[in-house]
Amino acid sequence: MDDLTHELKADAGLIGIRGEVLDAPRFGELRFWKDGAVVFDPRRGIITEVGEYRVMIQNLEAKAVQWRAGGPAVICPGLVDTHAHLPQYPASGCGQGELLPWLEGHIFPLEQAFTAERSEQDSPRFFRELARNGTTTAGLYTTIYEDSCDAAFRAAERSGLRITMGKMMMDVGSYGGLAPEKILALSLEQSERLCQRWHGAGGGLLRYAFSPRFAVSCSAAMMRGAAAMAQKYGAFTQTHLAENSGEIERVKERFPEAKDYTDVYAGCGLLGPRTVLGHCLHLSDREVAVLAGKDAAVAHCPTANFFLNSGLLPLARLRAAGVRVGLGSDVGAGPEVNLWQVMRSAMDAQKARSFYEPGTKQLSAAEAFHLGTQGGAEVLGLGDVVGSLTAGKEADLVVLDRAALSPYGEPGDLKPEELITLCVYRGGPQAVQASYVRGRAVYEREV
Ligand SMILES: [Zn+2]
Repeated sequence: MDDLTHELKADAGLIGIRGEVLDAPRFGELRFWKDGAVVFDPRRGIITEVGEYRVMIQNLEAKAVQWRAGGPAVICPGLVDTHAHLPQYPASGCGQGELLPWLEGHIFPLEQAFTAERSEQDSPRFFRELARNGTTTAGLYTTIYEDSCDAAFRAAERSGLRITMGKMMMDVGSYGGLAPEKILALSLEQSERLCQRWHGAGGGLLRYAFSPRFAVSCSAAMMRGAAAMAQKYGAFTQTHLAENSGEIERVKERFPEAKDYTDVYAGCGLLGPRTVLGHCLHLSDREVAVLAGKDAAVAHCPTANFFLNSGLLPLARLRAAGVRVGLGSDVGAGPEVNLWQVMRSAMDAQKARSFYEPGTKQLSAAEAFHLGTQGGAEVLGLGDVVGSLTAGKEADLVVLDRAALSPYGEPGDLKPEELITLCVYRGGPQAVQASYVRGRAVYEREV
């Protein structure tokens, strides 16, 4: 930092970070301040000013701002991962094949072993990984066990991250060893207790999501019960929809009276503005219209879709219908929590479509960046709270080491589109200097 005249006393009220400031408040729109700054109030946790550094310091003269030291930085909104499975992280990159055999062969045994003790050990490491990758908000699934989920929430609270999470619910083909009719009542009761304890906890950073796994492993009664409880508490629901052809066939067999997969969820009252649906790769026009009509949101998980041979999302079709779409790492089907690589994969998915579907619009890096920030925030009902660097919003942001984005250091002078492309293709934990939630550092790289 060349201008230390503004580095004021250590007990200063506001914190300022100077660097290239980049965000994407709307799809396709990139905002950029080359010599910019973000100033926030760590006590109230909100952003107070964003703009050109030179202009801003004139107005800030009278205020006490402590400027963050460090080399050339790129400042972005904290990344938003709308769909991941906390207990599955160790299985990232393990196994192969398609969804249903992968779940039964690799994932159910892993989740079964994710006891409270294991959760106490692994959950803090998982949240550390999110923050180290620049992810400040996430929508997560845990296992079917109440105490294991409870331990994950305790770790989430300590991490300072913004987490929407829930205990996995499944009463068909579950790994718990109980008869389905026993699981139904127990799972609803345990989920309700967790919701009462954690929805709105951590000063509002933590929220509960009722989480029926998918229609393959849930009875209609369980899905109806989950929907009713989410309604009762104003909590979220999250599940998977139309990820893979084998799964869709299984749902058809289980619910022959339903018009299609989406109709199963609609019939159980699961679809609404606080519903996040993972994948949604293979939907008919009718199903897309139902999602739009119910204002349910989609978590697009391209790295997982490639890994499990599931397919390519018709993104433009969903967006044109008005469906909110964000990005999810979907670990363990996705190999990493690094959301920059999920953005890159989202671009690759549309590129791949365009190769065989003439007229398919490719996804730009700026658009992928929007999906990984503001788009994801909107999916989780936080569009007015986080997702962009806007005065008045909460100060969730990530500070990137500009030099660490390029193979041989400083990438030189870049236009905003070039800079965001570099971030998307080469962004990752090696470049994250610090992550902030509500103006509080949840991760700082050791130097
Ligand atoms: Zn998933």
